[in-house]
Amino acid sequence: MRYECVKAKSLLSKREMLAEDWFHINRSLNAYRGCEHGCVYCDGMSEYYHVDNFTSHIRIKENAPEILRKELRKLGFSSQQELETETLWSFLPEDDATRLTMNTPRRIVIGVCGGVSDGYQPAEKEHKITRQILETLLDFRLPAMILTKSDLVLRDIDLLKDLNEVAFANVVFTITLHDDNKRKIIEPRASSTPDRFAALKELRKAGIFGGVMATPIVPWIGTTYENMEGLAREARAAGAEFILFGGMTLKPGRQKDHFLSVIRRHFPEKADKIRSIYADDNRYGNPMWKRQPINTMLLGHEICKKVGIRDRSVRHKLPSEHEANYQVLGILLDIVFYQRYMLGRPWSMCKPFHDLSIKLEKGVEDLKVLLEEGRLREGLSINDELASIVRQIIERGTCQYMENLLSNLSEYEIENQALVISDEESGD
Ligand code: SF4
Repeated sequence: MRYECVKAKSLLSKREMLAEDWFHINRSLNAYRGCEHGCVYCDGMSEYYHVDNFTSHIRIKENAPEILRKELRKLGFSSQQELETETLWSFLPEDDATRLTMNTPRRIVIGVCGGVSDGYQPAEKEHKITRQILETLLDFRLPAMILTKSDLVLRDIDLLKDLNEVAFANVVFTITLHDDNKRKIIEPRASSTPDRFAALKELRKAGIFGGVMATPIVPWIGTTYENMEGLAREARAAGAEFILFGGMTLKPGRQKDHFLSVIRRHFPEKADKIRSIYADDNRYGNPMWKRQPINTMLLGHEICKKVGIRDRSVRHKLPSEHEANYQVLGILLDIVFYQRYMLGRPWSMCKPFHDLSIKLEKGVEDLKVLLEEGRLREGLSINDELASIVRQIIERGTCQYMENLLSNLSEYEIENQALVISDEESGD
């Protein structure tokens, strides 16, 4: 393994979608380039990211906390120290103080790691870059979402608890294989499956938000009912807020070549079946849907219903966000997600919900006040149908549209029952 300290020029990347329905973050950063965990399906290996020797040459961005501090200031945020100075506003005439408060930028949620590297990979033990990033976020009182496969995150439980008090901290573990022997082949240098669940349990006990990203589920290896149900049950037992199942992409080139060579060596009987799913070599590495053993998300939805755990990541409330706005936005994002990823509905059906989500994410008046004053439609510039959906969510926490969607999903699942495979059928 080769480690190299480097100076980063920039750190924060803006997410493509402002109202993001997978992780609910709007900025992300990577403290490292490359990742020692060496998961065989890792997207980071692809030529697309221009990182050679992704799993054996780790670049440590030693100035990341400093760059983050600069970038947050540029976005208009102030550190705690600076905010304390700003209490001087209280001596100003009321109008001036209000003007300054209104200029405070809207909070952002930063994905601290797990994009194309794991912030808690082995190098973090010594270099503590992710820890310093969390210290910086605590100083700026900005929420963080961490996606990891390592129980090293427990080292920072003190910071996470503090951050949770002033903003929020959300730690999501990627866990894709219930059987740790298979995990050793597929995710060789990450923490074991039991250790990840144990770490999640400890964080949840400490009051920190958290769940499980059961993605990517490797076709024919992880797609058995036993594996997925086992993960859902463990997640529930660990106190996870959710478990989100998803399929696997495999970009042609380095990523696909490496993955298939490992599969040929360890699961020779499955190699052809898996290869055929990605035979068209499309540039995004998307699977050919009809060749997949199951619809992972749909089966995940059914299993979650049975086990009694949410099948979607949770969007947590931002400090100072109006309760009604938070509630409506959460349901709108769920509608977009179910329509898009589970029912495969055209974007034109998702777009009105997505557009309204963006509006709410940017910040609008208190929806409860708009409703009470009869200004929902005009205030949000939406049609009667959408206004009725918003009203229903504010009044009863859900809406008929969502209920219909869930019953459509149940019907869809019944039609797809034949696609569920067991360990035995998958050749184990
Ligand atoms: S932990 Fe994530 S970034 Fe690291 S090798 Fe595995 S998939 Fe890639």
